[in-house]
Amino acid sequence: MRLFAILALCLCADAATLVIRDVTVIDGTGAPPRGGVNVVITGNRITAVGRRVSIPKRVRVVNGTGKFLIPGLWDMHVHLREKDVPLYLANGITGVRDMGSDFERTVACRKAVQSGRLPGPLIVTSGPAAGGPGDRSGEFPIVRVSTPREAYQAADQLDRRGSDFLNVLPGLPRDAYFAFAQRARELRTAFAGPVPDSVSVEESIDARQRSIEHLSGILRADESYDEAQAGDLFRRMARFSVWQVPTLSALARPDLECLPEKQRPPFETSMRAVRDMQKAGVGLLTGTDAGCEGIPPGAALHGELELLVTAGLTPLEAIQTATLNPARYFGRETDFGTVARGKLANLVLLQADPMRDIRNSRRTDAVIFNGKFLDRKTLDALLVRGGGREASATVPSAGRVEAPAKKHE
Ligand SMILES: [Zn+2]
Repeated sequence: MRLFAILALCLCADAATLVIRDVTVIDGTGAPPRGGVNVVITGNRITAVGRRVSIPKRVRVVNGTGKFLIPGLWDMHVHLREKDVPLYLANGITGVRDMGSDFERTVACRKAVQSGRLPGPLIVTSGPAAGGPGDRSGEFPIVRVSTPREAYQAADQLDRRGSDFLNVLPGLPRDAYFAFAQRARELRTAFAGPVPDSVSVEESIDARQRSIEHLSGILRADESYDEAQAGDLFRRMARFSVWQVPTLSALARPDLECLPEKQRPPFETSMRAVRDMQKAGVGLLTGTDAGCEGIPPGAALHGELELLVTAGLTPLEAIQTATLNPARYFGRETDFGTVARGKLANLVLLQADPMRDIRNSRRTDAVIFNGKFLDRKTLDALLVRGGGREASATVPSAGRVEAPAKKHE
């Protein structure tokens, strides 16, 4: 994966700029929560974390008593639209992986975020996805590919334009898929996406697809779930570091147009597969397909965390799928993923304990992005700006999500 730009460093002055005092830190490493901690931020980095860390003078101090600090969250499967950008940040999402959108507009959004003109998260983007003749492009442009030669050229062209990684769609013909994968390897760039209908999951692992979306190919709609067979496959995924972005919240919605019927495993089986993957050591990542009609940007990620817990992950494991795991996926653990000294100050301050109840991940008191403190009032203004007030109210919470009893006819 190519290194994507992070926000400009401003460690020019050594003076601390912000301290969160007496907070309970859930650092994302897997360590138990630790209370009474002071977190010092200098510029856009965390410069000290600990109980004995003294609070410098003339610095903004935020009282964290009774509150919980977690690393900033990532939504690893979105289709970025400009109007949604503030909604991510307002919901504690400090990074998104864009899986296909209007490339020029997305790059412009990223620049606007970097310059501080647009409040929004870190943005990693594939540019348009490469699809076969049968893929529908919907709202977002795609690159249409039918032959290996076209696939090769498409990979080159996308890479030259500055895609952070490459992205495939379900309708890619078999030969074109393998040519695309080979060119991605030659260009030393990652490729991700659903496993095309023409390819098996084993083959996509061999082709070193970096992440698989929507549990695609794991189980076709007409097959039954064979635990032993699935276990072999998951161990293979884990061994070759192929990540899975199950997008359970999207799979729970049979009405979603952006997810082709053919690619969807039955919902109950999806939940089981996710649990078994976590057990087998497959790297899971939170993703929502936000940007698709019907999925509320930002807020949907909290619904995804709840579904992961319903599937069998602990709240901490669920939080890691949105924090530490994305950092690992990108090979950027030095910059984010945990609350630790030296990391970018991208953090979420919660009013209640998400380990006790994952639904508390929604109870955002403040977001710290690039060292900047955004209090509840500022976040509310971002929600209004993105038109997300109503949208967030419609997110299903795990307790209420029903598995679709019947598939859409
Ligand atoms: Zn998608």
